[in-house]
Amino acid sequence: MERLARVFSQQDELITLDTGYKDEFETFKALASLPADKLQRLQQLALKLQQDLEQPHDRKRCTERSRNLREEGNLVFRGSATGSSQDAVLNACRLYTAAVFEAEDAVDELSLAFANRGMALQEYGYYREAYDDCANALECGYPERLRHKVIMRQAYCAWKLKNMAALEEHLDCLEQLQLNESFQQQLDNLKQKLNLLKNQPNEQETQEKVEDKALAEILTDPGQRGRYMVAKETISKGKVIFSERASCFVPLEQLLICQQCAASLMSAPIPCPKCHQRVVYCSRKCREAHSAIHKFECAAYRKDLLRLLGVSHLALRLVLAYIPYIMPHLEERTTAKDIWDEIMNLARKPEASENAPEYLRSLRMVSLLGQASKAELTYHILCANFLQLYLKGHTDFFDQFDSLSASTEDWQLIISSLILRFAGQLLANGHVGYALLPVGMEPKEFVGLQPDLWQKPRHLKRGQLHILSHSELITAINLPYLSLCNHSCEPSIRTKFDGCSVVNYAAKDILDGEEIFNCYTRNYMNSLKLQRCEPLKDVYKFECACAKCTKTDPDQNYLSFHRYRCEKPNCRQEFVPDARVQRNNLIWWLASNAENPIICTVCQERQDFAWYNEFLELIWSCADSSKRQDLFKAFNDLDKWLVDYHSLKRIMADELVTACFVEIDEGTSLDESDYENLAGIIRKQLEGTATQCGDTSMEYIARMTYLWDIIAQKKCRTNEKELLQMKGKVEYLASEHREVFLNYYNDFIEQQCK
Ligand SMILES: [Zn+2]
Ligand SMILES: [Zn+2]
Ligand SMILES: [Zn+2]
Ligand SMILES: [Zn+2]
Repeated sequence: MERLARVFSQQDELITLDTGYKDEFETFKALASLPADKLQRLQQLALKLQQDLEQPHDRKRCTERSRNLREEGNLVFRGSATGSSQDAVLNACRLYTAAVFEAEDAVDELSLAFANRGMALQEYGYYREAYDDCANALECGYPERLRHKVIMRQAYCAWKLKNMAALEEHLDCLEQLQLNESFQQQLDNLKQKLNLLKNQPNEQETQEKVEDKALAEILTDPGQRGRYMVAKETISKGKVIFSERASCFVPLEQLLICQQCAASLMSAPIPCPKCHQRVVYCSRKCREAHSAIHKFECAAYRKDLLRLLGVSHLALRLVLAYIPYIMPHLEERTTAKDIWDEIMNLARKPEASENAPEYLRSLRMVSLLGQASKAELTYHILCANFLQLYLKGHTDFFDQFDSLSASTEDWQLIISSLILRFAGQLLANGHVGYALLPVGMEPKEFVGLQPDLWQKPRHLKRGQLHILSHSELITAINLPYLSLCNHSCEPSIRTKFDGCSVVNYAAKDILDGEEIFNCYTRNYMNSLKLQRCEPLKDVYKFECACAKCTKTDPDQNYLSFHRYRCEKPNCRQEFVPDARVQRNNLIWWLASNAENPIICTVCQERQDFAWYNEFLELIWSCADSSKRQDLFKAFNDLDKWLVDYHSLKRIMADELVTACFVEIDEGTSLDESDYENLAGIIRKQLEGTATQCGDTSMEYIARMTYLWDIIAQKKCRTNEKELLQMKGKVEYLASEHREVFLNYYNDFIEQQCK
């Protein structure tokens, strides 16, 4: 990181932006016409760094590390046969996964690691994953004399998956081989199974095809508003307005999620063996689908240089993904200027229909680069230049332009300009996707492989749902259709992220013809107007004039979650702190805000909040049963100081519940009344969350997991209405999570309705 910053600052001194910013193309043309010595120095700096970032690895050491892990896995796996423990099988999968990762491109070892993981995955019941691992092992050159074992396993998994075509193919292949008696027996067995499958009535997969009727349309305003979205009919709260699947996203923070589908609950990640374990896929299918992109990114991942480039990495991905679609429009063009003009032509054409392809929608997104500060602009120019040089120097990306009339230099200019353009657009239009993940997972651990969590594939153990209560940002993602929604601090939509797709629900009733708004920052229920203004101005360069911000008391809703009862005995009046006096900061309980005390607006006395520290003390000692009683009482006493759904109450409930569950997870046993108390506190917290964040928000669902766990353990009373209401929330989860939540519901909760 520092090295890149150093190179950028050296480059910065070489370029001048004195003439002002015109557009992406003119910027790079100006760069290309720098005096030769300057230009050469500029490019040399980048090239040198790219060379230096190469991280060679020692294949012998990879082999050694991988073998050790595989052997460790073998011990655990053999042990599981005697103890018949599913936990041990999953642990073996974990170790074999580590062996797969460590092997990198030491293919002999890699093929063995895949083969062994396939065996353990099959044993655990992950048949689809096991099937893939057999194919992986064979692909990496699994020893010829043992191949029949792996093919037999593949055939078995194909049978389990009811994939007749694959089963038939593998059986045919086995027929050609010399098999010993026991394998011949297995083969005969599987042949019988195939016949049975063939004679089974064809289970037609009844795919529920949800009619995707767009309830919104795009209109164009020649003025400031530009393109925007309005309701085509009256839409009632909770209805799906539109969905969108993104073809371009990048994982945030080197997170290991599937690069193709953004799956995060992986149980058998398949890494690219060539880029130091930085890229994984959930399946061979995803790996295949992503190969057209990864072939140009692999070297960059190997050098670990994408992490340094932020939004420009996503911009690069847009270029890689869209160039095949843009190219046919440009084949006749002979000069860089001609090519750029045509691209801008495409970008200017009005939205022909709602079904304009993604690349056109993306080309048409608004860019705010023209309003960026000089430093910001320079940074993005250098990033785009850096990536273009990378593509030229380390990939064969530019070969695809060889047969066209324009020169490679022309195309280099175009590609730099396009990366810069997309980066500028993404600054204002990029989205960030989230998923529920466990807290504090090690970077190379995978949720699906944690023995403490699972009883069988995608079925959690009783009491473990709360582990998935942490909403984590996982992707930076391009959603050009969603980007057409303008901003309002009172959004009309609630966006569900499902891997690389989004579903947008109506957050309220929307009238026919009403504009549909997204919220680009915290909404009016969760922030003061002044707190929102800053990011809106900094990032999106506008001043909000939404219905909430233009009200005479724009902060009324937010402040209703900050009502106090004065703690001074002779006052005891209800008050709302004066946001201006508090320097717009009412979150006094954060250490960083210690110098912003809360003053009663009635008696002007400063509030000491002694009860707050007492509460924290009790949380620290909540392992102790009597302290726990005090803690529950202290929580109920909060009503003395905090009025209604004060947002601090939710936060304190959060702390309390989390702390008690940490104790439970560590083996402290709570009694009946403890659990009833906890359930009561969670229910109150959910009410508050529903009021401030909405009852389908991620915050709500995350906190709900704790209540599910208590109910699953039969530790608190409940009723059918509550259960059904809770079950309804899974609709708002990503599909991989929805499956896990529904399994949990069916395994442990449903029965309690009866
Ligand atoms: Zn995937
Ligand atoms: Zn790679
Ligand atoms: Zn606003
Ligand atoms: Zn007072």
